[in-house]
Amino acid sequence: MNDCYDVIVIGAGPAGYVAAIRAAQLGLAVACVDDWVTPEGEPALGGTCLNAGCIPSKVLLEASELYDKARHEFADYGVGVSGVGLDLPAMMARKDRVVGELTRGIAGLFEANGVRRIAGRGRLLAGRRIEVTAARSRETHTLEAGHVVLAAGSAPAQLAVAPLHGNLIVDSTGALAFDAVPGRLGIIGAGVIGLELGAVWRRLGAEVVLLEAQPEFLSMCDRQVAQEALRQYRRQGLDIRLGARVTACAVEGGRVGLRYEDGQGGHGETFDRLIVAVGRRPNSDGLCAPDAGLLIDGGGLVHVDEQCRTNLPGVYAIGDLVRGPMLAHKGSEEGIMVAERIAGRAARVNYDAIPSVIYTRPEIAWVGMSEQALKAADRPYRAGLFPFAANGRARALGETGGFIKVLADAGTDRLLGVHMIGPHGSELIANAVLALEFGASSEDLAATMFAHPTLSEALHEAALDAGGRAIHRVSNKKGTDFKSVPDSIYQRGRT
Ligand code: FAD
Ligand code: NAD
Repeated sequence: MNDCYDVIVIGAGPAGYVAAIRAAQLGLAVACVDDWVTPEGEPALGGTCLNAGCIPSKVLLEASELYDKARHEFADYGVGVSGVGLDLPAMMARKDRVVGELTRGIAGLFEANGVRRIAGRGRLLAGRRIEVTAARSRETHTLEAGHVVLAAGSAPAQLAVAPLHGNLIVDSTGALAFDAVPGRLGIIGAGVIGLELGAVWRRLGAEVVLLEAQPEFLSMCDRQVAQEALRQYRRQGLDIRLGARVTACAVEGGRVGLRYEDGQGGHGETFDRLIVAVGRRPNSDGLCAPDAGLLIDGGGLVHVDEQCRTNLPGVYAIGDLVRGPMLAHKGSEEGIMVAERIAGRAARVNYDAIPSVIYTRPEIAWVGMSEQALKAADRPYRAGLFPFAANGRARALGETGGFIKVLADAGTDRLLGVHMIGPHGSELIANAVLALEFGASSEDLAATMFAHPTLSEALHEAALDAGGRAIHRVSNKKGTDFKSVPDSIYQRGRT
C-alpha cells in the first residue's frame, strides 16, 4: 500500500467523502479512512447521514406518511382502499435497501475517482502522519499526508439521567430500527430528531410524548413558524410538553419509568420505549494524539477559521466536527471548499445562506435571519407573508396549513431571510437560497414569473406582500413604492 498521499481524509460522511472525491477530481492522490461498520460488521461509507441519519429517517418518514394517508386521508380524495396494513419488517427492509444502494454508490464513486478507501480508525499524529488501526485485523500502520482533512462527524449526546438500555432506551440509531411499533413512546428532546422520529412512530400508531427542557418550542426557528408548527403537531396527536426536565429514569418489567419536573411540579410517566434525542457531540475524543497539538474548542468542536483551517498547518476540519449547524449539506460544501483550497484554488462557503429543513408534515424550512434575530440586531426590515390556504396547488394537494414569510431590509430591500411551514418546504426553500446567494431583493422575487399552479407561487406572493401588493390575499399593509428604494437595486437585471 502507498504510505504517502497528497490528502488523507478521516471520515467518509457527507463532509469527508465529498472532500475526498473533489480532491481526487483535482488530480490529488487521496486516501479516506473510515471506521463505520454496519450491524452485520461490514464497513460502509457515507457516515451518519447515509447509514443512520438523513437517509434512513427520510425513507421511514416517506413510508409512514403513505401509511397514514392511506388510512386517514385517501377517502377524502375519493380513493377507496380497504385492508390497509402495516408490514414493518418490509418497511425496514426497504429502508436498509435504500441505504445499501447509496453507500455502495459512494464506494463506486471512490473507485471511479481513484480515492483509496481504508476501513479502519484514523488518528492524527504530529507532522501530518495518520495512524490507522485496521477494522478487521486491528493492526496499525502509519500513513503520511501533504494535507489532512478531519471529518470524523458526531455521535448522539448521552444523558446521564437516561442511559441507553438495550432496545428500551435508545438513541436515534436505535429508533430507526425498532422491531415493533411501541404502544407508548417517550422522547426526550423535541428538536429536529425528536420531531422527525416522533412523527414516524406516531403515524405508525404509537402514542408519542415529547419532553422538551426548553420552555420555548423550536427556539432556532422563526417564532411565527414555531407557533404554527406546535399547533399543527399537537393537532396530529404529538403530546409535546415544554419546560420538562427529566430527573430520573428506570427500566422495570420491560418498560421505562420516568420522572420529570416542569412549572407545575413533578410528574411520572411509563413508556414502552424511550428515545433520547438531546443533540449530538463532535467525535473529537481520541482523534488526535496529544502531542500533535490540535486545538479543541468548548463542546469538543475542533477549532477552525472561516476556511476550515485548524491551528495546525495543512490540517483542516469540516462537517459536524466544527462550528455551525450539524447539517450534511453544510459539511459537504466545506468538503468542496477545503479540497479546492488544497489544490490552490479560491473557494468559500456562504455561511449566511445555509438552508435548514425539518421533514415533518408540514415541512419547516428556512434560510437567513429570523424576525426575532432581526429585531435583536435592531435591523429595520419589511415582512411579507402568504398562507398556503390561498394557493391553488396547495388546495389540490390537500395541504393548506402554513405559510411562507419573506423578510427584506427596510432600506435596500435586499432579502434577509425566508421562512416557511407547509408542503414541500424542503424543495421550495431552494428558490430562496438561490435568491439570497445572488443577493436578490424582495422586488427581484416579486418581479420573477412562477409557473401556475405551483406551491412556489406562495413565495412569489409573499415577496409581493412585502411590498403590500399581494394579489391573492387581502393585505392591510400600506403598499411600498419600489421606486423609493435605491435605483441600483430596482434596476439590477431589470432594465
Ligand atoms: P458523519 O456523517 O458523522 O461521518 C463521520 C464518519 O467518520 C463516520 O463514518 C464515522 O464512523 C467516521 N469516523 C469518526 N471518527 C473516526 C476516526 N477516528 N477514524 C475513522 N473514521 C472515523 N442532516 C441534514 O442535513 N439533513 C437531514 O435530513 C438530516 N437528518 C438526520 C437524521 C438523523 C436521525 C441524524 C442522526 C442526523 C441527521 N442529519 C441530517 C445530520 C447529518 O447526519 C450530519 O450533519 C452529517 O452526517 C455530518 O456529516 P459528517 O461527514 O460531518 O459526519
Ligand atoms: P437538536 O439540538 O435539534 O434538539 C435537541 C433538543 O433536545 C433541544 O430542543 C434541546 O432543548 C433538548 N434537550 C437537550 N437536553 C435536554 C434534556 N436534558 N431534557 C429534555 N430536552 C433536552 O438535536 P437533535 O434533534 O438531537 O439533532 C442533532 C443534530 O442533528 C441537530 O443539530 C440537527 O441539525 C441534525 N439533524 C438534522 C436534521 C435535518 O436537517 N432535518 C434531522 C435530524 C438531525
